[in-house]
Amino acid sequence: MTDFNAQLAVELAALRKADLLRELRRVESPAGTRACLGGRELLNFSSNDYLGLANHPALKEAAVCAAKKFGAGAGASRLVCGSLTVHHQLEEALAAFKGAEAALTFSTGHAAALGAITALLDKGDLLILDKLVHACIVDAAKLSGAKLRVFRHNDLNDLEAKLKWAAKQRSAVSGQRPARTLIVTESVFSMDGDLAPLRDLVELKERFGAWLMVDEAHATGLFGKRRSGLVEEFGLTGRVEIQMATLGKAVGAAGGAISGSRNLIDLLVNRARSFIFSTAPVPAAAAAASAGLKVIESSEGEARRERLWLLVEQLKRVLIEASFPPPAVRAPIIPVAMGAEARAMRFAEALRKAGVFVPAIRYPTVARGAARLRFTVSAEHTAEDLAALAKALGGIANG
Ligand SMILES: *Cc1c(COP(=O)(O)O)cnc(C)c1O
Repeated sequence: MTDFNAQLAVELAALRKADLLRELRRVESPAGTRACLGGRELLNFSSNDYLGLANHPALKEAAVCAAKKFGAGAGASRLVCGSLTVHHQLEEALAAFKGAEAALTFSTGHAAALGAITALLDKGDLLILDKLVHACIVDAAKLSGAKLRVFRHNDLNDLEAKLKWAAKQRSAVSGQRPARTLIVTESVFSMDGDLAPLRDLVELKERFGAWLMVDEAHATGLFGKRRSGLVEEFGLTGRVEIQMATLGKAVGAAGGAISGSRNLIDLLVNRARSFIFSTAPVPAAAAAASAGLKVIESSEGEARRERLWLLVEQLKRVLIEASFPPPAVRAPIIPVAMGAEARAMRFAEALRKAGVFVPAIRYPTVARGAARLRFTVSAEHTAEDLAALAKALGGIANG
């Protein structure tokens, strides 16, 4: 034991020295525009609860009802006896929402990515990722054993070069089935707030006979007429093989989802190990997610989205007035580049002292030396909240 703890202590000390140590903060309040930490109420600009649904009465009520009716836990995996009515209702609602034949839910978005990518790809298949995709997709890539290439962020020329590489590899393979080429990207990038050029991407992958998986973690609920995501907004629903979503961000609950063809979903039920070998999500989470989708699809959902976009514009103005470069984003995620990890930590600490909670995002979430403050807004923020943020930023710049 002494050697064990001594070795871990060395590793932790190195993280601290590099300004990369992460520590949990105990939040004493529900999700919202205020976060209570250590008895102090801070203005919260760090949540992914973009539409303010995580603490919405309709979602809480649905969670409570489901717990009363179906219990606190599902009791087993979906394929044993855990496939409850609430899970099926959520999947039917999701498929309709995403305009897909079928949908499958997982306990987390992370598990959805792992399950889907490893179910579809094997050694000998080709996987091509945008440089900035989420860690869960990188983990899935490693686990799948597929041959991997990374294209420069949102760079279609570089993607085309990688697709040409894949076509060459493919013709060399003589397995039981033709080798597959899968491209994975996000629609709204989680740490940069920029959008993927999905229309051009779809044309390119069709030209090369590749498949496309789009992670809509930060777009679900925010884009498109039905508010199902950027795939819908760009009119690409029938042309994207695999749509991925999380239910823990704008949807306000928890879980991950894959939607697409009936065959895709049937295959995942048989092959996605993070689905098969895992207890079904708790009934309360599934019911809350269904209620979240209902709110999103209602006129209230549209009103919340409109409010959110107004607040995004206001936040951009606040940041410009605080002498930060104009953000080129079309999402409720606004990164402010800090460079060195230590600088990001100091700035976040100063903001906390001034009553504002914004996370310093550091390696390995982003590249080394590309640390940033990541501001997010929610439809529940008010103009007064943004004025308070402006004041806090002014105090730091001047002090
Ligand atoms: C949050 C996130 C995930 C993981 O979803 P969880 O439900 O939180 O596990 C996947 N992809 C992206 C881009 C994310 O931001």
